[in-house]
Amino acid sequence: MASLPRNRFSLHQFLSLFLAASVILFIALESHLFYRLQEIQRGTEERHLKLARDELSHALHTVENTLEELSSRLQEWDELHQQLDQPAYYPYWRENRILNSTFFPRFITGMELYDPSGKILSPPLVPLFPTQLNDPRRLAVTGEGRLQLLYPITVPDRSRPGRTAGYALLAVDLLEAIRSRYIFTHLKADSLRVREGLPATLDGESLDPQELFQFSPIDLGDREAVTSLALRNTLYHSLLIAGGLLLVYLLVIRFISSPLRSLVRYLETLRRGAMEENPPSEFRVSELETLRKALVEYHHQLRAAHAELDHQNSRLWQLAHHDPLTGACNRLAFEEDWNSLIGLLDHQRIGIAYMLVDCDHFKAINDTYGHQTGDALLRIVAQLLQRSLRSGDKLYRLGGDEFAAVIINSTADSVMAIAERFQERISRYPFGQLGIDEPVTISIGIAIADEVDHHRLRSLPRDADLAMYHAKRSRKAVEIFRPEMGQDAAILSSRLVNAVLRAINHGDNLEMHYQAVVSADGNHTCFYEALARLRDGRELIMPCDIFPVVTRHRLDAAFDHAVIRAVSRDLIEERIPAGSGVSINLSAASVIEPSIEERLVSLRAFAGSHRIVIEVTEGSLISHLEQANRNLDNLRRRGFTIALDDFGSGYSSIRYLASMPVDLIKFDITLLQALRESERSRRIVEHVALMIREAGFELLAEGIEDEETLQLVTNIGATLLQGYLLARPGPMPGSELNHRPKR
Ligand code: C2E
Ligand code: MG
Ligand code: MG
Repeated sequence: MASLPRNRFSLHQFLSLFLAASVILFIALESHLFYRLQEIQRGTEERHLKLARDELSHALHTVENTLEELSSRLQEWDELHQQLDQPAYYPYWRENRILNSTFFPRFITGMELYDPSGKILSPPLVPLFPTQLNDPRRLAVTGEGRLQLLYPITVPDRSRPGRTAGYALLAVDLLEAIRSRYIFTHLKADSLRVREGLPATLDGESLDPQELFQFSPIDLGDREAVTSLALRNTLYHSLLIAGGLLLVYLLVIRFISSPLRSLVRYLETLRRGAMEENPPSEFRVSELETLRKALVEYHHQLRAAHAELDHQNSRLWQLAHHDPLTGACNRLAFEEDWNSLIGLLDHQRIGIAYMLVDCDHFKAINDTYGHQTGDALLRIVAQLLQRSLRSGDKLYRLGGDEFAAVIINSTADSVMAIAERFQERISRYPFGQLGIDEPVTISIGIAIADEVDHHRLRSLPRDADLAMYHAKRSRKAVEIFRPEMGQDAAILSSRLVNAVLRAINHGDNLEMHYQAVVSADGNHTCFYEALARLRDGRELIMPCDIFPVVTRHRLDAAFDHAVIRAVSRDLIEERIPAGSGVSINLSAASVIEPSIEERLVSLRAFAGSHRIVIEVTEGSLISHLEQANRNLDNLRRRGFTIALDDFGSGYSSIRYLASMPVDLIKFDITLLQALRESERSRRIVEHVALMIREAGFELLAEGIEDEETLQLVTNIGATLLQGYLLARPGPMPGSELNHRPKR
């Protein structure tokens, strides 16, 4: 259990404190009671002693009264008078009468008679009596544990009033007298003794019974018995209270402290987030039971809320990490997975392949057939790709039509097998069902880091990108990254980017080459196609290297502007002969640029003397059909000829052809190749050509390299011709013109 803060105490500690305080209080109470009891006892004893003392005084007083009464009677006793008158018989009388006479009580131990001069009538029987009584005063004599009071009685002379006949001296055993004359109620009669150490004689006139006797008061209760009763009571109380306290302690522990502790434990585990903790079983104390039930209910609610939260979380996670269209993981998921994989693989060496997949011309398909078809295509591509991967390999959609897969524990062969499997599935899939007439093709770039070159792991995405770039450039379906690609690309890329930026910013390295487009009869050059090259020392950088860089850096429009400037310059410098013309290639970005007309103002100035042709590709037209149509319509009205370049290399959508603001169709080389493939292909091309011509378009065949093709394209009615056979592109228009016989 967690230790308590300094100023807090546990219930146990409180209970122990309560017990200790109770014991201390109990001891104090009992001690006080005991002390009071003792006090009361002492008070009672003192009261009893006083009563006994008073009683003793009273008893002495009674004895004195008895003696006075006796002395009165003796004063009147005839026999006694006779003895005083006739002392001769005294010894005899003394022996036979005095003590035997009923006259004397038993406490009178002896008597002697004295004549008026105080002389004893006969020598005393016991030495106690003096022979001469000088002063008839009372005298107390101690000895042998007795206290004898010599009590003188003056006997008056009955014949001579006022004269003394003599004296009688009584010996009174005082103790005996008291005992026989008095019944004690407060004094214990047996305890009455003559005090030891008294002087031999004492003045008998004023006797203090306290000085003379020692005694004990009657025991009303036995002091020891009272004490032991008090002690026994204290003990019983102690046991009772201790038992009671122990019982309270145990009950509190059992019914309050333990339940509270289990509740606290339960709450603690809940607080730590352990949702599956079992609640404590029922409690006897109703308040605690109510608390327990409330907690359990709260726990259930919490668990339900937790489960709901988990569910929502996983839903959110799912949403955040998945692409809703294809169901593949998204870029965020890729980045998280990739980073954690990199972290993991820092310690583990296994072969990893990164496969990048891109759907060729997806944008055009999307724009041509609509977004729904495009979405369906992406879903199918994702499905086929996922099926081609091993189970457990994740598929990511990085954006647009770009997919990626990270294949763990793989070799070049196993990844190649996956890529081929996928390509085969794509080629077999009936995309016609979606309404897509063109073949759907996919480019795949793969980069592999095996156990040996594990350090390349982090650059796999970039390498796969380069491999993809090579695949697209070489029109190969799959390319696996090779280091030279990286070197080429690295060297080229920085060199190319610099060259492109220089062309755009300064234009001094931009060299326009011109390739003649001649009339089918071979009579004249109709115009020259301006083709861009970049001068890099002795080397010329060709469009196949220029445009990937331009496109990747989204510099298409800027580069086109540089070309327009360069061609205008050549026109101004009259390098392009009047009567002919010039065609320039515009990228999709320029075609849809609202200010394209202004950009082309410098060329428009030559529209009177030259044929100015603007070459656009199907893709650029289809992607932004409306804006492109508007711009091109305007240009046509300003005297520009619009040519549709590369017809037959892409989609060649006849559907759009009718609505496109185009004057001239340029048959691509690939279409010319089809002329020779089979009779059927030739016929199709022928009919397309016928259709185009009949629709009022001019037909230009490009890529004519040999006589046979020249013949074929002439046969299908191409009115304009372009190709190495007729003229190669060169720095000066017409410089490379192959002088062919006129037709
Ligand atoms: P394109 O517009 O279809 O240009 C024709 C390409 O075919 C040129 O290649 C030309 O040299 C080549 N060619 C001409 N006759 C033959 C032939 O008989 N056989 C073969 N195999 N090829 C032939 P180039 O100059 O390498 O240009 C390639 C592409 O680069 C062009 O294709 C065009 O799309 C683009 N391009 C070139 N210059 C520019 C430019 O200034 N601006 C823009 N936006 N694109 C340009
Ligand atoms: Mg062209
Ligand atoms: Mg072309």
